[in-house]
Amino acid sequence: METITINIDGCEVKTEKGKTVLQAALDAGIYIPNLCYHPDLTAFGGCRLCIVEIEGMRGLPTACTTLAAEGITVKTRTQQIDNVRHMTMELILASHPADCLVCKQNLNCELQAVAQYLGITEKRLRSQTKDIPVNIDNPLFDHDLSKCILCGRCVRACYDLRGAGVLSFINRGKETYVGTAFDHSLADAACIFCGACVEVCPTGALRDKDGLLVEGSRREETLVPCKYNCPAEINVPRYIRFIQQKKYSEATAVIREKVPFPNVLGNVCTHPCEMVCRSSELNEAISIRLLKRFAAERDEKLWKKHSQKALPTGKKIAIIGSGPAGLTAAYYLSKLGHSITVYEALPVIGGMMRVGIPEYRLSSDILDAEIEEIKQIGFDIKVNTRIESLGNLFEKGYSAVYVATGAHQNARMGVEGEDANGVIDAISFLREVSLGYTVELGSKVAVIGGGNVAIDVARTALRLNAKDVTIIYRRTRAEMPANTEEVEGALEEGINIVYLTAPNKIENKNGIVSLKCIRMELGEPDASGRRRPVPISDSEFIINYDNVITAIGQISDIPEGYQLSRGRGGVIETDKTSATSRKGVFAGGDVVSGPATVIEAIAGGRKGAINIDRYLGGNGIIDEELIPAEEYEDCVGRKEGMFYQHRCEMTNIPVEERLNNFKEVEMGCDEGAALKESWRCLQCDLRLSISSVKLPPKKYSIKGVGKGN
Ligand code: SF4
Ligand code: SF4
Repeated sequence: METITINIDGCEVKTEKGKTVLQAALDAGIYIPNLCYHPDLTAFGGCRLCIVEIEGMRGLPTACTTLAAEGITVKTRTQQIDNVRHMTMELILASHPADCLVCKQNLNCELQAVAQYLGITEKRLRSQTKDIPVNIDNPLFDHDLSKCILCGRCVRACYDLRGAGVLSFINRGKETYVGTAFDHSLADAACIFCGACVEVCPTGALRDKDGLLVEGSRREETLVPCKYNCPAEINVPRYIRFIQQKKYSEATAVIREKVPFPNVLGNVCTHPCEMVCRSSELNEAISIRLLKRFAAERDEKLWKKHSQKALPTGKKIAIIGSGPAGLTAAYYLSKLGHSITVYEALPVIGGMMRVGIPEYRLSSDILDAEIEEIKQIGFDIKVNTRIESLGNLFEKGYSAVYVATGAHQNARMGVEGEDANGVIDAISFLREVSLGYTVELGSKVAVIGGGNVAIDVARTALRLNAKDVTIIYRRTRAEMPANTEEVEGALEEGINIVYLTAPNKIENKNGIVSLKCIRMELGEPDASGRRRPVPISDSEFIINYDNVITAIGQISDIPEGYQLSRGRGGVIETDKTSATSRKGVFAGGDVVSGPATVIEAIAGGRKGAINIDRYLGGNGIIDEELIPAEEYEDCVGRKEGMFYQHRCEMTNIPVEERLNNFKEVEMGCDEGAALKESWRCLQCDLRLSISSVKLPPKKYSIKGVGKGN
């Protein structure tokens, strides 16, 4: 790379051969006003604000299109330059509402910043202002043509940066505006909704829909919501990009950078990422969980090449509980070089993943394979070992303890007769079925509750003896906490759901469970934000069942010997570092949060590992690069019909093949469907790699030159 020296405003500036005068000046911290220039786009000198004088050169060339040459002398500030620059800016503002001149919101508006820098505080020239209403019809972006200064950045970004070619200048020369061919909507013009045009627009003429940038949220959280709504912050657009390229091991490595259970999550994650996916503003959210499963099923373990384990630290840590939080913490703490022993009260490993999620949703083969992989990092697991006192562990030489015992006890309903014969608690029921014990069940079964556990229990009952299964829920479908696909699965299988109904008495009469219920109506919202169910007087009725299974929630069973402070609902109280009230004892997962999801427990385990390592003197860094950062193609190209392509849904086995067995219901998808689905992703993170522009300093600083002084 050849370096040349030029003189700008009396300063000697070294720059690379091939750079323009504007680039050389900006790199050297010398600001030259500009608006149509953008560091990532081809310069064309359209706005003419960056005019300069170059010794020996006629006229006032634009610095953005003039190459720096060895030994040239440049002046960025003279009276003549200032006069022309002011006139240029005033002409730009003449057909602009110029509201930015008085706008007090700190919006980082470039037009405002450059006008202020030039000392322009009011509009002197007036031409016909474009009285055009803001076009709010497009998803994700609004288009305010009245604010457009025809700088062409958006058009160049759309063509040069993304290769989409959706935006262009319409009516060149006369009443020119930026739009789409035939004024089609962005969707019909094959817009890829990448946001590059919005990102580079210096005036807010193209802008994100109001309310996108939530005050206090980080920009990347707002722009790439899928990643930041994932409790473990899995880099969703990055792994979807690898799937687009048929690099499935690379995609899995990206997922593994944050979680050690990619396939489990691909099967059972509640996918909070999909709830916020920006594609849902267009038509439907991307099937992120499905893509995760698709990649994980094709993993050839490329990630192992880059996975590292630190040298032994000599520190011993006890982890109580082998569920998603405990195993995640064990995995990362082992990688950091600590010696780990996991204590599990049950005879099996996996916590609720093993004994809470039925086999038809998560096969034990998948769980076994991922646990085996985790164990290979090297730590001990002692099953059938319930820990009653933490003091004993410290006596055994452990430097820290992580409590991740989950929430394995059924919550009580507080209804008369709930201990009657024939009434079963959901958690014991699911556990016994998972452990392979025989569970006596009649053919007519009621399940009380509306969460995922209630659905799991109902669908499991149907796979055992039950022929007639009814879920009884006190609110309506809209308030039901269970996942939509789980509820739909239950309904497909013939499970009945009775809404706005609650039990108020249970009796066993000669082997028949008589369930007395009362009808409910919805009142005002309660603390959860859901409308409170209110009993309707004189609406009681009785139905007889062979069994009633109660599934209204789970609580933790924490031995008194732990001597830990408890919070509301009996959970262990921790501070923001996962530390409990007892020195050296940390906790995470359901035992802290109350019953939550697998991905939340994994995120809890990660947090625990970070903080325990720091407590033991480490740096707490568990993030790892399992696939080197790649150069990716950000010139996405056109995607005809993207807006109209529907989401790929998970394929399920037919209902008739599901009954009386625990065969996995979901079948994933084939390669064609996965590629099609990955193609729909808007790659929202690409926008973050667009360079930011250099805004001017507050005002001119050279005395005697320019009106801005
Ligand atoms: S919409 Fe924005 S980026 Fe596009 S030409 Fe107008 S001002 Fe420039
Ligand atoms: S479109 Fe893709 S990158 Fe954007 S939020 Fe959805 S999954 Fe994430």
